[in-house]
Amino acid sequence: MMELDLNLLQQLGYIFSAILFIYGLKMLSNESTAARGNVVSSIGMLFAVLVTVIEIVNPVLVLSAVLLGALIGSAFALKVKMTSIPEMVALFNGFGGLSSFFLAWSEFNNLSAISLIMVLSFMTVLIGGITFSGSVVAFFKLSEILKGNNNFLNKASRWFLIFSFLFVIIAVIQVIAGGLGYEFIDLALIQKIFIALLIISLFAGLAFVLPIGGGDMPVVISLLNSFSGIAAASAGVLLTNTALIVAGCLVGASGLVLTLIMAKSMNRTLYNIFFVGYESSGSSAAEIDGEIKPISAEDAYLVVEAARSALIVPGYGMAVAQAQHVVKELGDLLEENGCEVSYGIHPVAGRMPGHMNVLLAEANVSYDNLLEPKDINPTMETVDIAIVIGANDVVNPSATEEPGSPIYGMPILEVHRAKTVMVLKRSMASGFAGVQNPLFFKENSRMLFGDAKESISKLVAEFKD
Ligand code: NDP
Repeated sequence: MMELDLNLLQQLGYIFSAILFIYGLKMLSNESTAARGNVVSSIGMLFAVLVTVIEIVNPVLVLSAVLLGALIGSAFALKVKMTSIPEMVALFNGFGGLSSFFLAWSEFNNLSAISLIMVLSFMTVLIGGITFSGSVVAFFKLSEILKGNNNFLNKASRWFLIFSFLFVIIAVIQVIAGGLGYEFIDLALIQKIFIALLIISLFAGLAFVLPIGGGDMPVVISLLNSFSGIAAASAGVLLTNTALIVAGCLVGASGLVLTLIMAKSMNRTLYNIFFVGYESSGSSAAEIDGEIKPISAEDAYLVVEAARSALIVPGYGMAVAQAQHVVKELGDLLEENGCEVSYGIHPVAGRMPGHMNVLLAEANVSYDNLLEPKDINPTMETVDIAIVIGANDVVNPSATEEPGSPIYGMPILEVHRAKTVMVLKRSMASGFAGVQNPLFFKENSRMLFGDAKESISKLVAEFKD
């Protein structure tokens, strides 16, 4: 009787957690409720953990592990620099995959006869392993420790993925044949195949993410996020844990939707990203016509002050400089000066989906003023001044003008078509995709060199004077 009540209590707890997960996810879709949505989902997860512990033989051990994990996670999250959040998120994704990998491994070890449940262990280990090692590569790419592109490595990676795919199919056939009672397949053989799969899945993650570069990284990151959810859902089925299945499905499905949105905004199909990749490199600075025209803050002020319409385009450099608050201050001063101000937000600007939206929301910039490329490009010629703040790839005209460029085909904010463009950055360094930007050499471009926060502060000071 007691056992039945506990089970009922647990199932009710899982339903309550699922409601909190779904409600929290819904709240994430609006900037005013997003932070609370995060808290609601976290409470749902805490609740799910607590009701799971009810039936565990040694709850103290589990709760100690939960506490230790929470302490390590909180320490990391509190210590991490704002600019390193995307790397940290990639790593946390990877750890999600790794826990599903270990769960499936441990469940497999509990099986004493060949059964179809093994296929599920195989799949969980495969997706979890790919998520873990792929996220580690994403971490190194986002930290820009791993740069560049090696054609040989790219080809080798693709062949390894084909080999891994064939291996998995053969492994699954072996389990099914074993399950159907074919005597030449015994448990010892399946165990050896499983060990090989553990190793292959980790290498497959490396092979999956290593060849991806340039503008395609955002798509890979959201796909890895989706994989971590699918691995968790599949581990949930292995453990028959409702909360894990629901949470995993939500992460898997929302990650997949985000992947498709990102791929669409890059004008790339998933097939192109994962199986075609890119092998060429863009023009070097020496090959680009035109010359750089640096401008001082004092002269920049005169240009900005005369503008009647301004488009502010933030990019990763704004996050590095933590310039969002002075950007908002500049925007307000421009508006007081009778200038119409809007913000051009590219879906992949920064280093994580929604990066610019989060920073500008922090500085209280209204969402109504944020425009996507498709909204602003058609009227770009009417913009008096486009102020590019630490953005590079997302305003690179090579994407529309230079077939063969690694970012060719990616929709950009076409600021080169504005009457004047002012680019705020520290040097002539390229952006994440590693390609030179012809925008800086255009007739209507001016370069305001320096840290974005310092440059904008100077403009603000000029306005106030
Ligand atoms: P980029 O990485 O293309 O360029 C950022 C620019 O900011 C650099 O050229 C840098 O130039 C400048 N910068 C850096 N620090 C400062 C500073 N303190 N002050 C002023 N400028 C600074 O950024 P974008 O936002 O244009 O493009 C994002 C790129 O990241 C795309 O290629 C995208 O595919 C990729 N990516 C996006 C992800 C996402 O989910 N959004 C995830 C993974 C990758 P300098 O050093 O000269 O100052």
